[in-house]
Amino acid sequence: MAAIKIIKQKSLKSLSTFGIGGKAERFVSVNTTATCRETFLFAKKRHLPVHILGNGSNCLFPDQGLPGLIVQNKILFYRKKQNQIFVGGGYSLALLGRKTAKNQLTGFEFALSIPGSVGGAIWMNAGASGQETADTLVKVAFMDLDGRIAIYPKKALRFGYRSSSLQEKKGMILWACFLLSPSSTAANQARLFAQKRRQDQPLQEKSIGSIFKNPANGISAARLIDQAGLKGLQIGGAKISLKHANFIINTGNATSGDVALLVEKVQQMIYAKYGMWLEKEICTFL
Ligand SMILES: Cc1cc2nc3c(=O)[nH]c(=O)nc-3n(C[C@H](O)[C@H](O)[C@H](O)COP(=O)(O)OP(=O)(O)OC[C@H]3O[C@@H](n4cnc5c(N)ncnc54)[C@H](O)[C@@H]3O)c2cc1C
Repeated sequence: MAAIKIIKQKSLKSLSTFGIGGKAERFVSVNTTATCRETFLFAKKRHLPVHILGNGSNCLFPDQGLPGLIVQNKILFYRKKQNQIFVGGGYSLALLGRKTAKNQLTGFEFALSIPGSVGGAIWMNAGASGQETADTLVKVAFMDLDGRIAIYPKKALRFGYRSSSLQEKKGMILWACFLLSPSSTAANQARLFAQKRRQDQPLQEKSIGSIFKNPANGISAARLIDQAGLKGLQIGGAKISLKHANFIINTGNATSGDVALLVEKVQQMIYAKYGMWLEKEICTFL
């Protein structure tokens, strides 16, 4: 049997790039398929609700804490076989971008300085600058909460804008395989994207990236919020970034309630001004 180490009353603040949240009742970090299965069976036996976590860069956790078991993917291998990359779900997305671009492979130039994991990026089809995680995906290994593993080819996963059918399944993306294409300009492109991101986004602040999806008709949520004059709007410790209108930053002591109120206020003000209801991109556990 694989050994699992359960931590009780783990700070959720430390598990999210937002630095917001109470305590997780139980927390486990898994670094192999075997420990993941063991953890899921432990939870099943005790009827514990399971929450899957990557790097917490898209998660708003509640101040009152989360009951059940948080399982964080720390399966971290990276293997390159010509242009195919086999990579663990817990592997850093930014590092994947850096390594592949350095190896003159195109597909993940967008990923530099996105602080997520590969599993989280697949789950929500993360993307930027015209690239998406699903573009180069070949297949995903997924474990359900009964510990059964399925290998899904990309076409079985119905990817869309910041969405995939994985969002309807309960379980963990263990690892994935991507097929990239050679490109002599990948490293330079990645550098340029990262430079632009540093210019446009509040990367030094605590945030969870873009709060809202762009509305379907090609309009930018950030532009709408900016044009409505909402940059700098603050509730408690949560503030619309002055640098990027689609980012909310935690100025120090923001609560999940502050963020929820600010999100709702923006939605209402944008609806009143433009007749559009902005849909959340972030994962809330509220
Ligand atoms: C500064 C900053 C910039 C960002 N820029 C971008 C951007 O340009 N484009 C973009 O798309 N996003 C961006 N994000 C948001 C975020 O980084 C991405 O959505 C990222 O893919 C989330 O990965 P994660 O591992 O942190 O997921 P988490 O926040 O840990 O989890 C997000 C969701 O994915 C699920 N999940 C995570 N890992 C797994 C797994 N292994 N198996 C099953 N489910 C899983 C979780 O249950 C949760 O529902 C940004 C965030 C920040 C803070």
